[in-house]
Amino acid sequence: MCGKCGKLDKNWLCNKCKKELKKYYNLQIDKYGEPKNFDEHIYLFKYEAAIREEIIKYKFQEKSYKYKMLTKIILSKKNTCDKIEEYDIILPVPISKERKKQRGYNQSELIAREISKNLKIEYVKNVLKKQKNTVAQSLLNKEQREENARGAYTLKNSKKIQNKKILLLDDIFTTGSTVGECCRILRSASPQKIGVLTIAKD
Ligand SMILES: [Zn+2]
Repeated sequence: MCGKCGKLDKNWLCNKCKKELKKYYNLQIDKYGEPKNFDEHIYLFKYEAAIREEIIKYKFQEKSYKYKMLTKIILSKKNTCDKIEEYDIILPVPISKERKKQRGYNQSELIAREISKNLKIEYVKNVLKKQKNTVAQSLLNKEQREENARGAYTLKNSKKIQNKKILLLDDIFTTGSTVGECCRILRSASPQKIGVLTIAKD
């Protein structure tokens, strides 16, 4: 089935939908001046149009099967695959136990695992944990988001990422508060490099 239109398709993304989404595809690598706790931010779309609709459905409307289609589109360009393979390890931004129970899946984890299955990059679990169930970031402004993210994550099994090039995956980048806080915690394990990969940037 095509994860976008529902038409029968063994590749999870039909040619018509692939063509439509690819119109917006534009690999960007940003390095931010202010201290953001990571070295670079890689993203593929602006958070708009068809890709915005798909991410909303994936994340908030229980359409968990869309992870296959979203990963297909991420992996459909060689320059993006090459960039991802510069890293040793991929891991997702975690969600709290309560949120995972509610939603049934961690949207970033499904995509990170699928990327690891298809490219030469190892998926590691149980490194970053979300210890408190915070208010959804989408409901808050920039200052509130930073406050909300602070202290929400803890590090486990830090040896797994020591001296490694690690890539943190999230779905959307808005103010960068969530990934910034995650990377601040990851830094304490002394990885060699930290990159952030998101599908889109708002
Ligand atoms: Zn389709």
